Amino acid sequence: MLSSSLRDDFPLLTRTVRNGKPLVYLDSGATAQKPRAVIDAERDFYEHHNGAVGRGAHLLAEEASGLFEAARGDVATLVGAQHEEIVWAENATAALNLVASGIGNASAGIGGEEAARFRIGPGDEICVTEAEHHANLVPWQALATRTGATLRWIPVDDHGRLDLDDLDELVNERTAVLAFTHVSNLTGVISPVAALVARAKAVGALTVLDGCQSVPHLPVDVAALDVDFMAFSSHKMLGPTGIGALYGRKELLDALPPSVFGGGAVKVVTMETTSWLDAPMRFEAGSQPVAQAVGMGAAARYLMEIGMDRVEAHERELAALLRGGVADLPGMRLLGPEGDADARDVIAIAAVSVDGIHPHDVGQVLDDAGIAVRVGHHCAQPLHRRFGVTGSTRASAHVYTTPDDVRAFTEALATVPAFFG
Ligand code: PLP
Repeated sequence: MLSSSLRDDFPLLTRTVRNGKPLVYLDSGATAQKPRAVIDAERDFYEHHNGAVGRGAHLLAEEASGLFEAARGDVATLVGAQHEEIVWAENATAALNLVASGIGNASAGIGGEEAARFRIGPGDEICVTEAEHHANLVPWQALATRTGATLRWIPVDDHGRLDLDDLDELVNERTAVLAFTHVSNLTGVISPVAALVARAKAVGALTVLDGCQSVPHLPVDVAALDVDFMAFSSHKMLGPTGIGALYGRKELLDALPPSVFGGGAVKVVTMETTSWLDAPMRFEAGSQPVAQAVGMGAAARYLMEIGMDRVEAHERELAALLRGGVADLPGMRLLGPEGDADARDVIAIAAVSVDGIHPHDVGQVLDDAGIAVRVGHHCAQPLHRRFGVTGSTRASAHVYTTPDDVRAFTEALATVPAFFG
């Protein structure tokens, strides 16, 4: 377990909330709190270095450009990528759309022969999973509609794990893309990446990993995972909002057409045509979120200073406490693996359905006790449907979460049935 003194790095955690209660923040899966290192990095940028990146001949422009690229380097190091394999995006959703739209543009003839390897159409298949956040489902539905390709999905079993029984049929020679989440934002279940990537490679399909819930909590090395693309989000890994990142293999990024067109991303523009710069610049048209990138870089450094192995160990202990605590409560259903005995491959996320009580009502009782959780469908409607419910109450942890936070949550949750009884 990480030292609770680490909480001192997070100014917001000292505030009180409803009824003067100390804040118990268990909504990190939605967005994480920020350490001073991140807040200070953004403030320092604006106070001392703000300038136009890549465009000016003056000292501030040079410093801003340097910090922007150093941040890219830090984010790359966090996930085991090369510097030029990290593309900034507005958030993880935009990063996933960048890949899907790029494939769609290639299929429409944009990007010419260089992009031909991405072309798909009727007869081709795109495979996702039933565990996806809408951000890694809807763009693929749109791509299938746009190109005439067929969307398929790997189902989830009763414990929230991917059911790989029909993997060889679902991912086959017609599959152009296999897009899947690394960790479910509903159950916390970690996907069997090696098996999925091996099958995709065997049939020549591109792999797109949604790393939103893994990069903040586990050591993630894209080279070791051997995926082609991975999207992840700054605000869930202790960084600012307004920025996320896409990892892509350099040779793929250099051939994929952009989907946002404009200045800063181009080599030569005539009135008739345009040639694009290589990655990552070809995907970064227009002014970029520079201070946010600097903040995301600071978040990556903060996590690396703690050490992602230690972050994972902390996460695993909390996962056992959280799931074990909820599994013991009568009238509650834990979505996904049940209890700590069956929770070897989960991070510290617990989504609970309380018999006969709406998640918003559960959230209200917890809020009155100073406990912040997420309620609703968490942008995972198909997975909720798989479990036969429309929503749930979700607690999720991060480096600053303590066993006391988990205890406060399970104790308050235990009072909910009687409160409405
Ligand atoms: N994928 C997963 C698994 C998520 O949990 C989220 C955020 O909730 C997203 C994608 C979308 O991330 P962003 O808010 O950065 O677009």
